[in-house]
Formats: sequence, C-alpha cells, structure tokens
Amino acid sequence: MYSELDGCISVDSAPHGSFCEGKGCRRHAEQRLTVIGGGYHNVNGLYCYSCGEEFARMIKNIVGILALEAKKHSLCPLTR
Ligand SMILES: [Zn+2]
Repeated sequence: MYSELDGCISVDSAPHGSFCEGKGCRRHAEQRLTVIGGGYHNVNGLYCYSCGEEFARMIKNIVGILALEAKKHSLCPLTR
C-alpha cells in the first residue's frame, strides 16, 4: 500500500558488499533509502529490508502532520 508520502523516499540498490546501518544490525544492506525534499532532504542510509522499513516509518512519523496536510493537495510534504 502506498501513500503520497512514500514518494518522498527514494529507494535504490545498495552497493554490493555494503552493510546495513541499522542499530545493532550486521546484515548486508539491500537498499539505499534517500529522503527527497524538506528539512531531511538527502538524508540517506544503507539498510537491509527490515531496517529500511524502520527508517521509512521514522521519517513518516516525523513528517506525519505535514503528510496529513499534504493529502489535501496530493503533494509530497517534504518538498515544500
Ligand atoms: Zn538492518
């Protein structure tokens, strides 16, 4: 399920052999997540799938109020 906010986090493949930046996580990174726009623009990290979900959830919590507002306009809340 995707919301408008999901478009604010860009997902790329992690470089081969890189490791997850999740706390206490020593797995190989599967993806690089980058926040697009706003005060967190270009905040990014390499994560395995489960830590990546945590990262996305954290970002969504931070901008949750903005997201509600953005829904009215179908805009990414971080690009304003
Ligand atoms: Zn991890």
